[in-house]
Amino acid sequence: MTCFLAHEGKPRLEQTRRKTFMAHQPDKRIPATLIPGDGIGPEVVEATVKVLDALGRPFEWDVQQAGMAGIKAAGDPLPAAALESIRERRLALKGPLTTPIGGGFRSSNVRLREAFELYANVRPVKTLIPGRYDDIDVVLVRENLGGFYVAHEYYVPIGNDPQAVAVSTGINTREGSKRIARFAFEYALRNGRRKITVVHKANILKALTGIFLEAAREVAKDYEGRVAVDDMIVDACAMQLVLNPWRFDMLLCTNLFGDILSDQLAGLVGGLGMAPGGNVGTDAAIFEAVHGSAPDIAGKGIANPISLLLAAAMMLDHVGLGDAARRLHAAISATLNIDKVRTGDLNGTASTRQFADAICHRLAGT
Ligand code: NAD
Repeated sequence: MTCFLAHEGKPRLEQTRRKTFMAHQPDKRIPATLIPGDGIGPEVVEATVKVLDALGRPFEWDVQQAGMAGIKAAGDPLPAAALESIRERRLALKGPLTTPIGGGFRSSNVRLREAFELYANVRPVKTLIPGRYDDIDVVLVRENLGGFYVAHEYYVPIGNDPQAVAVSTGINTREGSKRIARFAFEYALRNGRRKITVVHKANILKALTGIFLEAAREVAKDYEGRVAVDDMIVDACAMQLVLNPWRFDMLLCTNLFGDILSDQLAGLVGGLGMAPGGNVGTDAAIFEAVHGSAPDIAGKGIANPISLLLAAAMMLDHVGLGDAARRLHAAISATLNIDKVRTGDLNGTASTRQFADAICHRLAGT
């Protein structure tokens, strides 16, 4: 069973998890926040809720808006009501949120991670349909609060150009780096993983990613003989992921590298429609797809809901409903490989709703 327990003197999430697990009786649903999000978000969320209903409706949803939908509903991409809802429930399933490029609002995703100290981003990828790469099974753990994502940026004016030079500062702390490393090693132990590759750019970003590598190596000593560790410069890792992805078991990445490499990993298993993520911290856990709001296909009813369905499976695991998660995994696999129902990104013809219906049909037979 996949576990997402926060560690190192931070037992609160474990307590939360136990509390929610104990709270789950057949007649009592687990309270959770549901954020439909932007673009294809409402479409894949609708499909996922339908499938979860077919699994016995394990969650009691409190629906909240965020992103552009939050601006429309409450004038804020992260309305206070949404934050309060997650604060109370400590558990959420979230559709993608649009972040305008350039000026405008700060990313609601980043704000959410900061608000609930969601320091670990777990992004597993696994081959579900044989294709260009078979038998891929890699878990990427991404530090979720630091690096260049803190986005401390400014311009330096020169002459008539007020924005002649752009400066960005990244921040990684030793404690933060050790915390995410420990999370990754604990995850490896709990989930039978054998090796962690620490991804960095310590040859150039000697301080920013050097401290991350150093901290990971230090933490690794506590796991010697139980979980193997090596490290790789990010550019070499990107190439190896194309040439020989099977050499990797788990990747431990700084924030920006994890963001980029998790999209690359998604590409190995069929694209962004196939990659789930869990943001886990001391105060809450928020599950989502790796992909964004996909404005190019929004409203067409053709988005692949598998990423969010797999994120829902992670959420089921997180609250101790591993059997339901396994049923969901099996239904997705059977729908893709036996029923051959697939959305357009997987060269199929099914709409988002047709795919969800096919999964429900499968679940009804199990
Ligand atoms: P994107 O992930 O939305 O889309 C990239 C490509 O993948 C597009 O061609 C899209 O059609 C395709 N795609 C994505 N999900 C798919 C799915 N489920 N089924 C089929 N095809 C799918 O990336 P983008 O276009 O760079 O970003 C759009 C917006 O989403 C931006 O505002 C970005 O900031 C935001 N974003 C949000 C999150 C999040 O909320 N966690 C993550 C990434 C991007």
